[in-house]
Amino acid sequence: MRICIQPVGEVDREVLEFLKEQLGKLFGECEILEPIDVSADAYDPLRGQFNSTVILRKLPTTCDVTLGVTEVDLYADNLNFIFGEAELFGKRAIISLKRLRQEFYGLPEDKRLLKVRALKEAVHEIGHVLGLKHCKGKCVMRFSNSIVEVDMKNWWFCENCLKKLRKFNFLF
Ligand SMILES: [Zn+2]
Ligand SMILES: [Zn+2]
Repeated sequence: MRICIQPVGEVDREVLEFLKEQLGKLFGECEILEPIDVSADAYDPLRGQFNSTVILRKLPTTCDVTLGVTEVDLYADNLNFIFGEAELFGKRAIISLKRLRQEFYGLPEDKRLLKVRALKEAVHEIGHVLGLKHCKGKCVMRFSNSIVEVDMKNWWFCENCLKKLRKFNFLF
């Protein structure tokens, strides 16, 4: 399977390279596309945030899965913020690094932790693209609504989710 990472706006290169290497190992192939701008029409000036769905719909569909990665803060519908969003059984997903950074919570920067968190959110959203819904197990598909929950979950699929992926014909 070919995963394409689509930087949206200026994105931390070290994190992108880390994701490329890890997602390549996990899913088969991974490459980083030329960055695109954050679309101005996704910005909500009242919230100071970007509408995730508007950005998601602008991502290319030429790869098996395109993972948008951005540094801007994302929201969707009636949620205050989201770490990411995906098209279930679709082609595209997006994650934001904004709230995965320790600095967001007033703590010193931690690149290693940021990379692990980004990987978890990336695998989670790719899981949705591949057709998985949320899982209650100790699994990357567990829903996380706070950074504490991101840190608690695993970075890979549980046996149950793997079984479903095999049924959908994604072989791991
Ligand atoms: Zn989810
Ligand atoms: Zn699971």
